[in-house]
Amino acid sequence: MARPTAAIKTLGCKLNQFESQQMREQLEALGYCIVPFEAVADLYVINSCTVTTRTARDCRQLCRRTKRLNPESLLLVTGCYAQVTPEQLEQIAATDIVIGNAARGRLAQFVPPADTAPPTDLLPPYAETGPMIRAISGHTRAFVKVQEGCDAHCAYCIIPLARGASRSVPAGDVIKQVNLLVAAGCPEIVLIGTHLGQYGADRDGDADLSGLVRALCELPDLLRLRLSSIEPREITDGLIEIVAAGGRCLEADSSRPGRGKLCRHWHIPMQSGCDEILQCMNRPYDTSFYRSLIERIKLTQPDTAIGADVIVGFPGETDEQFEQTRAFIESLPLSYLHVFTYSARPGTTAARMPDQVPGQVRKERNHILRAISERKRAAFANNMVGKQLEVVIEQFTEASDNELSAITDNYLRAEVAGSPELIGSIAKIQVTNAHGGMLHGELVE
Ligand code: SF4
Repeated sequence: MARPTAAIKTLGCKLNQFESQQMREQLEALGYCIVPFEAVADLYVINSCTVTTRTARDCRQLCRRTKRLNPESLLLVTGCYAQVTPEQLEQIAATDIVIGNAARGRLAQFVPPADTAPPTDLLPPYAETGPMIRAISGHTRAFVKVQEGCDAHCAYCIIPLARGASRSVPAGDVIKQVNLLVAAGCPEIVLIGTHLGQYGADRDGDADLSGLVRALCELPDLLRLRLSSIEPREITDGLIEIVAAGGRCLEADSSRPGRGKLCRHWHIPMQSGCDEILQCMNRPYDTSFYRSLIERIKLTQPDTAIGADVIVGFPGETDEQFEQTRAFIESLPLSYLHVFTYSARPGTTAARMPDQVPGQVRKERNHILRAISERKRAAFANNMVGKQLEVVIEQFTEASDNELSAITDNYLRAEVAGSPELIGSIAKIQVTNAHGGMLHGELVE
């Protein structure tokens, strides 16, 4: 008796990728065989996103397209779009089951189990906040969710409506989860959350983010740890010191166990470089605070990568205010930007604001900042020429079979000649040149 097949499509952020992996391991435990999403399957799962109008539209189109692959199949839609506006998905004839975010950890209640009982060793261990994962399929590095939800209320953001109040995974469960992935051979762990900096604030007596990071860096078999996005107000001197001490620059004395594991990489949402706009966005800092934070970090570690999120076209943003943002970004030692075009989301304060910026203007502003981001990434990469850097070898490059693609601890892509058995390992490279933000190097070790 053939096992039923299931396919999972993930839209949106790293959190969704982690939760899709949780769903994958639950379905395998229920006896499903996971197949690519383009294949004919008995069950399709779409893990949706609602952060922009486009992601919501993409999800609706995907629902209709998916059912055409196998009209007899079951289509389950979950994720933030299903959480915030389930009725819009329920109206689509193609969808059979629409469940919210919390229900994702209990798929067995919504999908029919396979007739044949699965081998029991497939049952994932459960944490307080849901099943643990053993890998992130298709990825060399693994995301680990340590926090979810947000207690802030930025004017443009729908996430608190989709993910609820901030809540943290107990530190003990995080350590168990990390050990599980490390035991599975994962070379790098990326800590993720909706609002990572709020880690521990909801759990009296449990560690805060610095405490969690210190505890993880003490795990003997953990090779590399990376922090994902952290809000400016939550980057403490303690955290800056840990990253500065734990930077995996080769001078670091690797004989000091527990140190030298933390990547020299910060991702710090800025959102705007204009104080009036930051105020309208209800962001809890101004440009002088942001500048002093960036300069303080760069002072501790010049080769650390600093990336920033920026939103263009927020309601009321004038050409002069956008120019302030452009000039502010140019003046900062940033390594790259993630540029987002403002998108009015239902239920947010900004969606009700006057002076919505025309789409074409938002597009032009987006292009301007993306060009700056490319220049900054190229300049940052050029500074690495002649240095030795540590990389995780991830896969073959598209170009050739003996060229490997890797990622440095300070978040640069690198291409290096090497053999396939290096994929998934950590190596040291000598950077020989850089081109358009991409490094080229030779293996040292
Ligand atoms: S943008 Fe603001 S409201 Fe949205 S998740 Fe981040 S901190 Fe929370």
